[in-house]
Amino acid sequence: MDFNEFRNFGKGAIELLIRYLQNIRERDVLSSAAPFSLIHTLPNEMPERAENWQDILNDIETFLLPALTHWQSPNFHGFYPSSSSMGSIVGELLIAGIGVLGFNWGCSPACTELEMIVLDWLVKFLKLPQHFQHSVEGPGGGVILGSASEAVLIAVISAREHMVRCTKTKHPERNERDIRAKLIAYASDQSNSCIEKAGKLAALPFNLLPTKNDFRLHAEQLEAAIKNDLSKGLIPAMCVATLGTTSTCAYDDIQTLSLICQRYKIWMHVDAAYAGAALALDEYHHLHSGLNIIDSLNINLHKLLMVNYGCAVMWVKESQKLVETFLVQRLYLQNNNNMNNNELPDFRNWQISLGRRFSALKVWITFRSVGAEGLRRHLRQHIKLSKQFERHVLADKRFELVTKRTLGIVCFRVRGDNELTTQLLQRIHDKKQIYLTLSMHGEMMLLRFVICGMDTKEEDVDFAWAVIQTELMEMLKPQREWRAIKFHCQNRKRNK
Ligand SMILES: *Cc1c(COP(=O)(O)O)cnc(C)c1O
Repeated sequence: MDFNEFRNFGKGAIELLIRYLQNIRERDVLSSAAPFSLIHTLPNEMPERAENWQDILNDIETFLLPALTHWQSPNFHGFYPSSSSMGSIVGELLIAGIGVLGFNWGCSPACTELEMIVLDWLVKFLKLPQHFQHSVEGPGGGVILGSASEAVLIAVISAREHMVRCTKTKHPERNERDIRAKLIAYASDQSNSCIEKAGKLAALPFNLLPTKNDFRLHAEQLEAAIKNDLSKGLIPAMCVATLGTTSTCAYDDIQTLSLICQRYKIWMHVDAAYAGAALALDEYHHLHSGLNIIDSLNINLHKLLMVNYGCAVMWVKESQKLVETFLVQRLYLQNNNNMNNNELPDFRNWQISLGRRFSALKVWITFRSVGAEGLRRHLRQHIKLSKQFERHVLADKRFELVTKRTLGIVCFRVRGDNELTTQLLQRIHDKKQIYLTLSMHGEMMLLRFVICGMDTKEEDVDFAWAVIQTELMEMLKPQREWRAIKFHCQNRKRNK
């Protein structure tokens, strides 16, 4: 391919994206593709000869787009928003085109320094504690990772190693293997699956403490668990609290939990993958309490902050704890010039992989092309639309809210047996027009309605509600008819 062809290929691809995104409402949000349909349709051998770009783009439109669940559709209300924006899409293209890796400062100075710049922008935008800024004196700082799961794993491993080092210093007579076998960590039973998974990967078991009706983890519970485990000879190493749980977007009590962690000298991490973005809004000021004493925090930019998937941020108060955990020296990994000094981080020591993307570029482009004002407007739009949906639920006696609406998430159900709620969702999904996810709290089945998509509007929320109401009506119709028949028969019997 030469540059001229590249130019046309690129333009063709952008045109395809515009057609796709502009007309996305015309497609069912769920695909009608049968299992294996693509596997049976597309060639199972790589082409021997280069194909032309027009054919490739045509095949995307013909075969791939119809076999997608359309996450950017305004009728997608499942899981979480997987945000995107035009600036971010272009950023992704430029990252691939420039094609650098930035594991050390010297690999690509702009990779490291732009990352430090955008992360400090974010600390100020989200009004996080100053010590998380790279430019403020001290060991704190942030790093861009691929996902919340990665951030949590890094925090868990660092907390584990830190606790092993501390225990060995305090009790040099103790055997290290024995120390490791006694470590224990805490989170709530509402925490995301990635917490438990990180525990498995890091061989640091999590005690998932049961939450009560408010779905939140409280200090008394954590302290009781710590005391109990200490009395059994275990070594509490960490607590992962959640700001915005996955099922219902509940907020753990960060303020009091972090005080307990401080008292028992255990690592406190906050998983704020979705809700962390709300820290930017004055009306969510209360969410800040306690964040000044935590050890680390993660927020996904790819959920609410308009950067496309594969962009999560983690901040740590003492970055040397990551470096102490992850540093492995090799001659070929040394910075290849004399200019770097120890004041600039080598981000390879803050993460799992060696190589790393120039993700800061798409963050920088997104934030510049939207502006802080645009980001706040986007967040408030999600909140406004979910309030609109909440009003629909409240106005219909056949439904009930399961929890208070938070941010862009409404948890609701059909009054009565769980069966009604699961049946309703099945019917909705069979129609393929809107997509919601099921969750459970205690014994209660619930539907999560989340504002997602790149450009969801009021009409889209009304449309979703109309689909839900229609399906409920259809579902109850046979029951109603059956009841009418029964009534009729009973009357006839009686009249005889
Ligand atoms: C979405 C979410 C995760 C998982 O995020 P990934 O980036 O997909 O790993 C973890 N925790 C919470 C609270 C979330 O909302």
